[in-house]
Amino acid sequence: MKYVDEFRDVDITKKLINKIYKKFEGRDINKRVNIMEVCGTHTMSIYKNGIDKLLPKNINLLSGPGCPVCVTDTSYVDSAIDLSKNKNIIICTFSDMLRVLGSKSSLSNEKLNGSNIVSIYSPLDCIYIANKNKEKEVIFLGVGFETTIPIIGLTIKKAYESNINNFSLLSSLKTMPNAMKKLILDPKAYIDGFICPGHVGSVIGTDDFDKLARENNMPMVMAGFEHVDIVYAIYSLCEMIENKEYKCKNQYKRAVRDNGNKLAKNVINEVFEITNSNWRGLGNIKDTGLKIKEKYKQFDAIYKFKLNIEESNHINGCLCGEVLRGVKKPTQCKLFKSKCTPLNPIGPCMVSQEGTCANFYRYVLED
Ligand code: SF4
Repeated sequence: MKYVDEFRDVDITKKLINKIYKKFEGRDINKRVNIMEVCGTHTMSIYKNGIDKLLPKNINLLSGPGCPVCVTDTSYVDSAIDLSKNKNIIICTFSDMLRVLGSKSSLSNEKLNGSNIVSIYSPLDCIYIANKNKEKEVIFLGVGFETTIPIIGLTIKKAYESNINNFSLLSSLKTMPNAMKKLILDPKAYIDGFICPGHVGSVIGTDDFDKLARENNMPMVMAGFEHVDIVYAIYSLCEMIENKEYKCKNQYKRAVRDNGNKLAKNVINEVFEITNSNWRGLGNIKDTGLKIKEKYKQFDAIYKFKLNIEESNHINGCLCGEVLRGVKKPTQCKLFKSKCTPLNPIGPCMVSQEGTCANFYRYVLED
């Protein structure tokens, strides 16, 4: 299949790996090069394909805050649980949020206890559910990055045009570029280059990342998700680090335009406006969240139910915050594989299949 098979070609990946060894093994391009990816699909592809183990020892891969479930603050989960206890409310969510622990419980526990919580595939399903349950309030848990935001915006537009008044969004929607800036400025999260999130790029393009790279002297590559894409991105980043080339190179042109997808961006801009957002492990970051604009305010669950969602503390012993900043590896967490497993996840990084801890559990053999 064109645009897929050539990026899964093992021989091309082998050649690229050999080039990386020839050019960069043991080289003092920066003693140790730390390359971070900020997309859960990249995380899965790296560990599933064993790319981390194929590289020279001086090239270190870090997984950043690229999984939307993993960066969702505990207080948001607590608010969703509180709402779910109201018999007149139906909570709709993507299934990966179900097992994320709040401070005391999870949505999946509350569902077992009788709360009306429905797992859905598309936010548009909420419109159908709201129409079928006119006596109840339907709340969608909006957890996601730029990739899922356009379809959530479309759902709100559809609800507005159809005069649906028993639907609302509890937004934990997040945008990536300013979160990356926070990591660049974090003295403990030492990062030499970024593999930029291809899905996010397909919506917003490379322009914002390029600006971020140039303003902060940080090499970046926009990459696809096959092993050829990722290894080529690592090779390019090593070259850019060595040459002090600070920009965002677009190596995912088959899906990403420099200025992104105009239609998707228009929907986002029509329905949402920028606000601050609470990120697990990174705290409250300016201009990294989205809230519903005045015109569509009736669909904002925070406004409708008069909620106040404060930034909250971590779960005891869980190092998700440090893992998400690339400061610690999951294997440095005392709970990893002992108390925290995919069947019994303590933190969100073990819940989602895009989570770093879940991927380490599945694919990484300890040294
Ligand atoms: Fe949190 Fe579990 Fe990962 Fe430890 S192993 S950081 S407890 S998710």
